[in-house]
This record gives sequence, structure tokens and C-alpha cells, in this order.
Amino acid sequence: MKAAVMHTRGADLVVEDLDLESPRAGEVAVRLVATGVCHSDLNGLRGSRELRLPLVLGHEGAGVVESVGAGVTGIAAGDHVILSAIGRCGRCEACVDGRPWMCSVAGANIFSGTLPDGTTRLSLRGAPVYHWFSQSSFAERAVVPEGAVVPIRRDVALEKVALLACGVSTGLGAVFNAAHVALGESVVVIGCGGVGVSAIVGADLAHAYPIVAVDIADEKLEYARSLGATHVVNASREDPIARVREITGGGPDHAFECVGNARTLEQLVEIVRPGRHGYVVGAAPPGTRFPFATDGFIRNKHLHGVMQGNVRATVDIPRYVELYARGRLPLDRMVTRTYPLDEINAALGALERGIGRGVVVFG
Ligand SMILES: [Zn+2]
Ligand SMILES: [Zn+2]
Repeated sequence: MKAAVMHTRGADLVVEDLDLESPRAGEVAVRLVATGVCHSDLNGLRGSRELRLPLVLGHEGAGVVESVGAGVTGIAAGDHVILSAIGRCGRCEACVDGRPWMCSVAGANIFSGTLPDGTTRLSLRGAPVYHWFSQSSFAERAVVPEGAVVPIRRDVALEKVALLACGVSTGLGAVFNAAHVALGESVVVIGCGGVGVSAIVGADLAHAYPIVAVDIADEKLEYARSLGATHVVNASREDPIARVREITGGGPDHAFECVGNARTLEQLVEIVRPGRHGYVVGAAPPGTRFPFATDGFIRNKHLHGVMQGNVRATVDIPRYVELYARGRLPLDRMVTRTYPLDEINAALGALERGIGRGVVVFG
């Protein structure tokens, strides 16, 4: 099968023929129809995190089940599925406690290079090739743990709903699962990339008001406005803290940081209304410090870390798919570019500029 292989950090991915083993017990083989291209993939390629190479990136897959391994129930060949970025094992403390996004088994294997049993199903001319998020969806097929597989209705376009595997669910989950935004509460979203605009869409669905988008690129702000932002602030031209306080009458009820850098984290704490809530949604590079003055924070501000939108994949993703099918979730406008796998490097490069999200569609 064709897959885009990362041989060297920072270098272009190479599309070549890999071998993929059959699924073992508790695993599922999926023919990918589409996969989102997420910022985490770019961070994997260009960032500083230690990874075992060669490796296949990709963690926003959607496709059709080909076969299932021993012991897999509730998933069958022919099912249309979304591959959640965080699979749940169903047995660890977090899973049993109702926090599957914190699954310790899945968490331990995001960057381990293997599936949960410590081995890889991928190889190139007999040599091992490693996984990413226990998924590796920049490939025509994938073998993944059953806990990552979310069956969905068959009548929706997989190249649209692929974004629900990670980015869009992270933004929606931040609004509904982490913040429980209520009717008429005020929301600020700092950073209007894929996750940020998804939080704006969520705030719009929640009937928040105002919904303020903050970014440094006018085209991203206009895009955010088209998806539900009621006000936009260009932080390269005006002081975002003063302007947001003005728009919201003293700061928002909920502020979401969807960038992941020290400067916007500091803005997050400053911008929240005293007594209200800030959420760290963006994934900052490993080791990033959180700098803020405590004098405003001590006025009962609350700061929350949000992991993958606190999404319960098997519960929330089918609901989001249903909303999309009924015209309530604008995924058609959130997928702004599609690419064949051969253009994966262009798709990754486009994450740095442009609006909306790119999706690889397999021919
Ligand atoms: Zn678990
Ligand atoms: Zn992602």
C-alpha cells in the first residue's frame, strides 16, 4: 500500500510502498477514504519531540472497515468509521471513570511509535516503520486499536467528517464538554486555526454572545466571522486585552486559547473576566512555560487544561456526525482544500498559511 513516510525530521515525507500486517486481537484494519492534515502532524515532522523513525504521520482518518481481529465486537467489515485521535482502552482508571480522552493506554502510545502491545504493523522492505497516535493515517490503509474506531452512519461524506477525528471535535468539545457554555454567555477564542474556528462554531451552536475571535491575520478573522464570530480583533493592530474587555464589558465568561504559545497563554489569563474561566486548548511545544501575573488571576479566575476537547469519542463523534447530516455543523465550509496523498507535503506546508483545513482524499 502507498504511505507517506517520514524518514528524517523536517524533510519532505516520501510516498512509497509499505507492508501492513493483518489486525491482531483487539485491532481493526481500515481502508482510508480521507484523512485530515492537523497541526500536530506538522509538529511531529518539524518539532523537537523524540520519535522513532521511519514513521507514518496522520491521526484524523476516516474510512471503511476491511477486517477485524480476534475478540472485536460491535465493529464489522463494511462499517464506515472515524478513527479517533485518542482511542480508549475501556479498562484503565480514566476510561472507567468516564474520562476516555485521558485513557492512559492511548496516551502512552501517542508518541511511542507502536500500537498498545508495543509492536508495529508497518514495514518497509522487512524493516519496521513506526506508528503515530497508534494510527498513521497518511496511508491507504491502517491497523488501529478497536477503541479508536467510531462507527458512523454511511450516508455522510467521509472527506468532510474526517475532521471530527481530532481538530473539529477538539474545538466543539472544549465548548461543550470542558466549558459547558450556556445560552448568552460571552466567549473569546484566541487563534483562528482549525481548532479555534471549531470552538467558534461550537460557541455559535451554544448561542453564546458575543463571540469574539482574536488572531493576527485578517483573512482568518473574516473566515471566523463567516463561521459565527460576532466580533473580530486583530491583535497585530490593537491591544487584544483592552479591546476584548470593551466588547464584553470587562472580559468574557469563557476564553479559549487555541494557539499554544507563551504570549497567547499570558493573554488568556489577562483576558478572562474575574471569577470566570480560561481554557488551554492549543498544544504548546513540550516544555513551554506559562507566564502570567497573579494579581488579576487571584480574583477567582479559573484556568483549565483541555485534552483533545475532553471528547468522549464514541459518544460525541456520532452526535457531531448527526448534526452535520442535518445541516447544523458547517463541515462543508471547514474543509477548504483537498489533496491526493502524493501532495502530502504541500498539504502540510499549507497549514502555515491560508484558512480552514486541508484533507487528503485517497483515490
Ligand atoms: Zn483507557
Ligand atoms: Zn490533531
